[in-house]
Amino acid sequence: MSHHKHGNNQGNGGSEPVRVGVYTCYCGSNIAAMVDVEAVAKFAEKLPGVVVSRAYKYMCSDPGQELIAQDIKEHKLNRIVVAACSPLLHEHTFRTATGRAGLNPYFLHMVSIREHASWVHDDKANSTEKAKEILQGAVARVALHKALEKAKVPVNPDVLVVGGGIAGIHAALTLANANKKVILVERDATIGGHMAKFDKTFPTLDCAACILTPKMSAVRAHPNITLKTWAEVTKVEGYVGNFKVQIKQKPRYINEDLCVGCMECIKACVFKEPKFSDEFNQGLGKRKPVYIPFPQAVPPVVLVDPATCLKLKTGKCKQTCVEACGERKAFDFEQKETFEEVQVGTVIVATGFKTFDAGRQALYGYGVYPEVYTALEIERLINASGPTGGHLVTKKGEAPKSVAIIHCVGSRDEHTNKWCSRVCCMYSLKLAHMIKAHTTAQVYNFYIDMRAAGKGYEEFYNRVLEEGVQFIRGRVAEVTDWAMTPDEEGRLVVRAEDTLAGFVRRIPADMVVLATGLEPHKDAQDVRRMFNMSCSGEGFFLERHPKLAPVNTPTDGIFLAGACQGPKDIPDTVAQAGAAAAEALALIDRGHVEIEPNTAYVVEEECSGCKTCLSMCPYTAITRDEVKKKAVINPAMCKGCGTCVAACPSGSIRQNLFEDEQVLVEIEEVLTRAA
Ligand code: SF4
Ligand code: SF4
Repeated sequence: MSHHKHGNNQGNGGSEPVRVGVYTCYCGSNIAAMVDVEAVAKFAEKLPGVVVSRAYKYMCSDPGQELIAQDIKEHKLNRIVVAACSPLLHEHTFRTATGRAGLNPYFLHMVSIREHASWVHDDKANSTEKAKEILQGAVARVALHKALEKAKVPVNPDVLVVGGGIAGIHAALTLANANKKVILVERDATIGGHMAKFDKTFPTLDCAACILTPKMSAVRAHPNITLKTWAEVTKVEGYVGNFKVQIKQKPRYINEDLCVGCMECIKACVFKEPKFSDEFNQGLGKRKPVYIPFPQAVPPVVLVDPATCLKLKTGKCKQTCVEACGERKAFDFEQKETFEEVQVGTVIVATGFKTFDAGRQALYGYGVYPEVYTALEIERLINASGPTGGHLVTKKGEAPKSVAIIHCVGSRDEHTNKWCSRVCCMYSLKLAHMIKAHTTAQVYNFYIDMRAAGKGYEEFYNRVLEEGVQFIRGRVAEVTDWAMTPDEEGRLVVRAEDTLAGFVRRIPADMVVLATGLEPHKDAQDVRRMFNMSCSGEGFFLERHPKLAPVNTPTDGIFLAGACQGPKDIPDTVAQAGAAAAEALALIDRGHVEIEPNTAYVVEEECSGCKTCLSMCPYTAITRDEVKKKAVINPAMCKGCGTCVAACPSGSIRQNLFEDEQVLVEIEEVLTRAA
């Protein structure tokens, strides 16, 4: 695929001489305040090949664009130079206007006399001179431009959604309902993510299961969704519209199609009682070696844990599970991990977050004092389907009389994570409300600032205040079991400076809840590399533009949804998942993508096949044709960064719009004038 439209450097691909139109913009007073725009326009009139030169207040406006279009027709212009703002902002605008008037859009060149002259100088005369120099270079280089064409690449309409939390579920259902085929990959044995562990959601106190589980079963039942749980994406190749993805299926030791979810095997397991830490209940409950993550899991299929199953560990077990499964024959202890390759056109990454490891905040005693819990553990204890059947009791089985909730654990802290996790204030309020509803305990919330920005959030805060929850403003210094009064004996004590009252307080508590923050997954960097994305300093996946492209990534066709992009609550996650699905749909329904032709290309006769460029390309756009022994650049993947052009030892890589002769003549002209 080549972008070249063969022709010579004269005129519009023909033999007629170059006829340049120059358009200098005032940009209101942005340029005009520090550049004499009229003088620049006058100067351009005399440059070789210039037929018409105009100045205008706002070149990007409709009349400004019309001016260019008219001149192209009237003066038979075959080259256009616009001296205005950064090409980043309006190159597309002017290329489109040029194309509309019937001229190949790549015969336009834009120079920035705003960012490079007016905005960076405070001497109008010098700034005007600099604008003239830049312009002179542009007029010389545009004469050497070639007609180029955008390549069109078809888009495979199938979508891959990575992650089966609420973000992935919502995105998958939106796309499937629009009649697109979706492959949803989840690395756990069930979809549902963190939300499946919550009892209620703030601020409306909807039952999380009641809103989530119908969506989970809709995913399983949807004819357009292929659900792959206990599976991981291991390799991604290709480019927008045409990704090749390798998926690893981990062994469940159960044939998913044959298991009916009767759970007879769990009852029949040689382990009469559950003995092993139950991951879904944050280790607060126990499970057997054969188990289902939770009763409403989707798919409703059991799995066997090779680390605890006697048959898989030692080879010796009566296998009462297999016997109980009987005719259904769902067990398969020989299962191995398998790999398959799928082809999709777009990808939505919705891999979620992990909660802060509370043990890192040593002064709060998590893992030291049994009655210090994380918020997620309390979610499970309060949940009717949790390990205590929804009874909030201490490890000794007693109802707490006093519960302390500590906000900002692993958030807004120089020593751990500097960012605000956005959800902890609100879920702490929700937990405070629920603890009050489940027990007669006094509830204390230790907070730094109360962040309740969201629809109905402030109202919920006021409601919790009215319910009698105590709020103490100040960062907790420590949680200790060192008693100073009889009331503190045998209990935990939360010590914090009350910054509103101005003294240090000691609050005895029977349970301490740590409102742990949200962090990127441990393997976020691996996922980033696999999908060719970027991460912010915190390690969350980076959107292409925080305001204008909030669900896009630097790699076309790969979108972000949910907390993998940064901490967010459920309403924001669902909204973002909808936006990501809409972006994917827009691409699919267009049917093809247009590739900008400012890409690099290999001059085959000159390439020695040394492979230097292969590892240099940050977008993995270069491969080696092993038959011809030459480098090959895939224009659909090339972003035109120019790295390979500079790296090639024999200079056999060139780049459209940045050909040596174009760049050199531009430099030469700028320097000639400067001299
Ligand atoms: S093989 Fe034995 S230990 Fe493993 S799940 Fe079956 S009964 Fe339980
Ligand atoms: S210009 Fe950049 S993106 Fe394109 S092939 Fe060369 S190194 Fe890769």
